[in-house]
Amino acid sequence: MVNAPIPDTQNNSFSQTDVFTITCSTVTNTEEKVFTWKYEVLQYLRSRRRGVDETHVCIFQCFLAVVTPQPESTQHEHLLPFAIYPHLLTNTVSYFPQNDSAAGPSSWYKNYPVAEGNRQSPIDIVPNEASRDRDLGPLMINYDHCTSINISNNGHSVVVEFNDSDDRSVIKGGPLDNPYRLKQFHFHWGGKGHEGSEHTVSGKGFASELHLVHWNAVKYKTYGEASTAPDGLAVLGIFLETGDDHRWLHMITDVLYTVKYKGSITDFKGFNPKCLLPSSLHFWTYLGSLTTPPLHESVIWIVLKEPIEVSEKQLGMLRMLLFTEEEDNQKMRMENNFRPPQPLKGRRVRSSN
Ligand SMILES: [Zn+2]
Repeated sequence: MVNAPIPDTQNNSFSQTDVFTITCSTVTNTEEKVFTWKYEVLQYLRSRRRGVDETHVCIFQCFLAVVTPQPESTQHEHLLPFAIYPHLLTNTVSYFPQNDSAAGPSSWYKNYPVAEGNRQSPIDIVPNEASRDRDLGPLMINYDHCTSINISNNGHSVVVEFNDSDDRSVIKGGPLDNPYRLKQFHFHWGGKGHEGSEHTVSGKGFASELHLVHWNAVKYKTYGEASTAPDGLAVLGIFLETGDDHRWLHMITDVLYTVKYKGSITDFKGFNPKCLLPSSLHFWTYLGSLTTPPLHESVIWIVLKEPIEVSEKQLGMLRMLLFTEEEDNQKMRMENNFRPPQPLKGRRVRSSN
């Protein structure tokens, strides 16, 4: 056991006294090793059958930034201590039942007071109240050399993760001052016959909503650092409405059986989310937050106006996923994994046209 330096806890909802060292691992200072190590940590935590999602991984990444050896010592293998935050591991993100004060989004404020903050997401977008902003340039989505890595079930959605070590897939223009790198995308959806989007338009929800999460690698060193900064993330939201089969969504739905259970992850290489974009890139934009705990107010939201069409059958395949782990006796279908709209609190929604 090695005493690990304690990361900056200022922007996280845990205290320094929660830190304890659980193991040591021998790794070298390479991206690949750190990546592998991240999943070893996840596997360990999953074996303890606690709720683990990308938020926790993100905290581990911050921590790695503190303890990873400097580049000049890369020839050597180093003993890398790590810490976990026990109370975070017991705070699973729960959506069900939506209005249950004990578990659902309406109780998130108890562990995450920012849930009642001034720039929370999602919101109800009222097009007539959104101001046309001629200063907003066109949105540019450059996914030409996009490389997906894996697909996973984090217990509240299905997530496709990307290589974000360089600017191969970025979003820029619109409200953004610089390019933001694609990190992952995931979906939110409802139950059969129910609306499942997070944002609504004039009070109307859509069947599902796709979130493509990007981070500001110009200003911040890591995704973890960016995810707590006011201009750290840019999330592109795309509505899914029920209609015909989506021509490309099957590439995702075909592999969902491999990530049915919470905590499962499988290789998913070479998928380019460009095929999920609608034909028009007109958008609304506003300053908001993550829509799952820790609900950091770090997101520049860009919500596309034109929905894409998917079939009820394709949505049904998302609903085959489970909130629960393979070992759990009780099986809970993953559905209604959306947070309802939050108060606007005087924020301005801008429109690109
Ligand atoms: Zn989301």
